[in-house]
Amino acid sequence: MKRVYFDNAATTPLLEEVKKVMQESMDLHFGNPSSIHHFGRISKNAIENCRKEIASRLECSIGEIYFTSSATEGNNLVINQSINSLGVLRIITSPTEHPCVAKCVEQYKDKIEIVQLDVDQQGKISLDQLESYLKDQSKKTLVSLMHANNEIGTFHPIDQISSYCQNYGALFHSDTVQSIAKVPINLKHSKISFLTASAHKFHGPKGIGFIYINANNNLDPILIGGAQERNMRAGTENILGICGLAKAFGLAFDNMDSRKKHIENLKNKMKTSLLDIIPQIKFNGDQGNCLHTILNCSFPYSDLSEMIMFNLDINGICASAGSACSSGVEHASPVLEAIGHDPLRKAIRFSFSHLNTIEEVEYTISKIKNFM
Ligand code: PLP
Repeated sequence: MKRVYFDNAATTPLLEEVKKVMQESMDLHFGNPSSIHHFGRISKNAIENCRKEIASRLECSIGEIYFTSSATEGNNLVINQSINSLGVLRIITSPTEHPCVAKCVEQYKDKIEIVQLDVDQQGKISLDQLESYLKDQSKKTLVSLMHANNEIGTFHPIDQISSYCQNYGALFHSDTVQSIAKVPINLKHSKISFLTASAHKFHGPKGIGFIYINANNNLDPILIGGAQERNMRAGTENILGICGLAKAFGLAFDNMDSRKKHIENLKNKMKTSLLDIIPQIKFNGDQGNCLHTILNCSFPYSDLSEMIMFNLDINGICASAGSACSSGVEHASPVLEAIGHDPLRKAIRFSFSHLNTIEEVEYTISKIKNFM
């Protein structure tokens, strides 16, 4: 059966080049990087070269990159430790953050002040509203706003946000999981304090990510033990994951423009074809400033659209629903709720990678035409 994978915001397939580097790493890097002998040094060098690769692409210092198991770990670390180590007493965030940020912040609601910025129907914040909160500098503040939203693709303007934070003495954390290695991010120009990433979103392996921690901010470690990751995260390193991450990161930067152009073509074709067959369809998120890999559609209410996820799946098309089912009841996702999405409409997220083809878009459209 033909399978079309349009769920690249959930995870991306590992590239052959990345797999090869990881296989080599399994053979070459069996030594413990903390050992001072020959085999330890080979492993240690491999890790430091990977760190250098990431730092040079982002234009930051190698001492500012720390490997983690995932972006969930990175985001939790930044939020927990900016409160515990840096004395943050107020977090300014938005209702469209990923659960690993939102739920982590929520834990502190009785201990510190939490400010939820408003988002409009496209998921955009108002910089004026952000500034009005930042003007009150009585409490040490962390602003936590993601770059591109994982459901609707809307960008928060991280360069402007970082300048505001710098002007008003606030720390700025951005979850860049969806956008990093897909659009340029330059840490020499953006005054970001903390940034998080996860390799499996850019064709690297699962279970490995990194945090950028600006050199001016010292966070306490989350895992205590050995001196790995400059005492920040004890535990023997996931070397093959780190090698896979760095390879995937480098490839994504080398091919950023061509991948983007290809994916934009796929997305435009999908949008115009969907509009042709379903004129009442709506696209969620800021269509003028949306991550090219994400297309979130709202199908008009009908018995047929209720069945759309099921019909896509039986036709071999993998996409993602904009709702979660708990205890047998379907709820719109918090992101869709925050943008005032009509609960009668069925939201589907198609998310693309450079491995997708125009033929796959055409196949999907032909199937949707049949069952809608
Ligand atoms: N942040 C965003 C925006 C995401 O899309 C995801 C994963 O879907 C995460 C964080 C968590 O990433 P990981 O699964 O690597 O912990």
